[in-house]
Amino acid sequence: MNDGFGAITIGSVEKYITDEAFNQGWMPDISTVESTGKRVAVVGAGPAGLGCADVLVRNGVKAVVFDRYSEVGGLLTFGIPPFKLEKRIVLKRREVMEELGVEFILNTEVGHDIQMSDLLHDFDAVFLGMGTYTYMKGGFPGETLTGVHEALPYLIANNHKVESWESDDWPYIDLADQNVVVLGGGDTAMDCVRTAVRQGANRVTCVYRRDEENMPGSRREVWHAKEESVRFLWNRQPIEILGDSKVREVRVVETQLGAPDARGRQQPQPVPGSEQLIPCDSVIIAFGFRPSPPDWFADYSIEVDSFLRVKAQHDSAYSFQTSNPKVFSGGDMVRGADLVVTAVFEGREAANGIIDYLEV
Ligand SMILES: Cc1cc2nc3c(=O)[nH]c(=O)nc-3n(C[C@H](O)[C@H](O)[C@H](O)COP(=O)(O)OP(=O)(O)OC[C@H]3O[C@@H](n4cnc5c(N)ncnc54)[C@H](O)[C@@H]3O)c2cc1C
Repeated sequence: MNDGFGAITIGSVEKYITDEAFNQGWMPDISTVESTGKRVAVVGAGPAGLGCADVLVRNGVKAVVFDRYSEVGGLLTFGIPPFKLEKRIVLKRREVMEELGVEFILNTEVGHDIQMSDLLHDFDAVFLGMGTYTYMKGGFPGETLTGVHEALPYLIANNHKVESWESDDWPYIDLADQNVVVLGGGDTAMDCVRTAVRQGANRVTCVYRRDEENMPGSRREVWHAKEESVRFLWNRQPIEILGDSKVREVRVVETQLGAPDARGRQQPQPVPGSEQLIPCDSVIIAFGFRPSPPDWFADYSIEVDSFLRVKAQHDSAYSFQTSNPKVFSGGDMVRGADLVVTAVFEGREAANGIIDYLEV
């Protein structure tokens, strides 16, 4: 096939089979699974939490999933734009999981509306899949000017508008007819540039401090963005956002890739005298996310590492058990911001760890 037609699109084949099965009314059959009588609280209805709840319920363990948002899916629902992932797919998963017996308690923030102590008292174990939500900053002047936006609130507000979800918490940011500069080179940045194009922006420019080869975003997304007329400025590092009451331009400096850091990534080095100004009406900062462990972790002996990631290992005595034996964790809050597949994997492996721990 590869010689004449390109690689086989296995993902599309799998998607077709799954869609067709759902269209024909197929549902997982767990009628032979006996209840163990055990109950697990899952905090976070993102890919990690859903992956965990799915394995638990298929093994006779009741899963009750808490999320502060009004719908399941985490970043699948609220962060990733609808043109990349249709929201009906996530909602279908909710329907399937409810059918299996998973209970969702939404609009409920653990640590605020309900306390961790209640979960530890009422359940046999707790899984934490709360993601990473601290926005990374550039640390240069001008980041707080009017017209400079964080990527995630921009995307969440746009999702609400496109899906007609009511909420006063996410005011819509309209970039129609504007010259937009997006800073960053990951999947979030690609979602921002492509969202701005769909909003009718006049010109969308992506500024990234390494070269195309070293971009963290998926190749396919970059290709789509280029196809949709996004302009890429590689090897440019932003050093200042300028404006009076409102953003007017971004000052960047050209970079060369230097020696690799501890993780093997070549570090961008500014080229002296290569500064330039990019005029714009709006700037979106998409530098990624850091873990955001809540203060109450310390009250329950849940340890984090120097990057604030929850300490939980695949090869611990019980898979993905934290320093509190009754608490397990997985997904972005353990790995740092990563991928949907790794979050699902860790949620599922944590469920296996919980099942071993509960001896069911
Ligand atoms: C814009 C964007 C685009 C992305 N694109 C891709 C992509 O194309 N491909 C890919 O593989 N990955 C992509 N990712 C990354 C992927 O979405 C994440 O790695 C994945 O969603 C992590 O899953 P999670 O379950 O760990 O966390 P999340 O998806 O963040 O879910 C965490 C959930 O926990 C809830 N929560 C947090 N605290 C509490 C609390 N105290 N009480 C109750 N609930 C709580 C949150 O409301 C949320 O629903 C993207 C990320 C972003 C931001």
